[in-house]
Amino acid sequence: MSPSAKKYISQHEFTEKLKNIREPEFIRKSWEIIEKIHSIREKKDFLIMAHNYMPPEIFYSVADVTGDSFELAKKAMNTPESSILFAGVHFMAETAKILNPEKRVFVPDMTASCSLADGISIPEVLRLKNEHPGVPVLSYVNSPASVKALSDVIVTSANAVKIVEKMPGDEVILIPDKYLAANVQKKTGKKVYVSRASCVVHELFTEVDTEMAERQNLLVLSHLECRPGVAQKTAFSGSTSQFRKVIEENPDREILLMTEYSMVENLSIDLPHRKFRKHPLFCPHMQKVTLEKILYALENEPVENEIFMEEPLRKKAEAALLKMMELSA
Ligand code: SF4
Repeated sequence: MSPSAKKYISQHEFTEKLKNIREPEFIRKSWEIIEKIHSIREKKDFLIMAHNYMPPEIFYSVADVTGDSFELAKKAMNTPESSILFAGVHFMAETAKILNPEKRVFVPDMTASCSLADGISIPEVLRLKNEHPGVPVLSYVNSPASVKALSDVIVTSANAVKIVEKMPGDEVILIPDKYLAANVQKKTGKKVYVSRASCVVHELFTEVDTEMAERQNLLVLSHLECRPGVAQKTAFSGSTSQFRKVIEENPDREILLMTEYSMVENLSIDLPHRKFRKHPLFCPHMQKVTLEKILYALENEPVENEIFMEEPLRKKAEAALLKMMELSA
């Protein structure tokens, strides 16, 4: 698509979407930056991708495509634009680069990381492989490219259960999220060897929250990264892309989403007739991405915000990602 063929949100539409959750002054100032971003994009061949955990002022204003990690990984393939700006954290932009080696890929803040991707290392993967020879290595998409390259298959929260079930044998290594791995073990009945990382947001939901929700008859949906003791007590445990369907199947109840709160804000804008319970859990890494940083990266294309990767490593990581596409089809 040529840049000028894109349709951008109007100021009126943007204001209407945010008016119940942001102050008028914040909306006005955000719009000033959004206008600049739109104007620069007219002259540049960029695709802007935004993860579900981006705040509404980004999610609803400048993104061409939105979704969870799996949706964005699929959409990142075969895009016509010559460059991608990924409004999300580092491993997501890396994944886009792995799948689009010929494109330039930028991330608004290079320090926006993830406790899961930071919690796994090459020696840890090699140790697990050594301890469990011949057992397939499955890496959650929230892992660095170097770990993806050592893996047989990548999984996301949307397809982890399905892919583990398809693996030959009764054992898998599933890294790096110990809670996601435990939830998958429970759902599949397979022996899952794990490492020690956890998500600094999802691990904060507790059984006290599920007990409170039960007393108040809330519909509770939890992310697969939540603790197993929590996930087992919720009406649904899976990926954020699956939440909407479950919400629509349960039309009357107030909802508690046990996931990052920007996602809750985005869904509450999308489903204004539904009531969502507030909670204070934002991802500190996702929160580093701002409209100002998106504008700066788009305007200057700074080399320090661009993703680079050695080709042999990229190819190995790509093979594991393509295997995921094949097995989740
Ligand atoms: S919410 Fe958790 S898993 Fe997602 S990017 Fe933040 S730290 Fe990583």
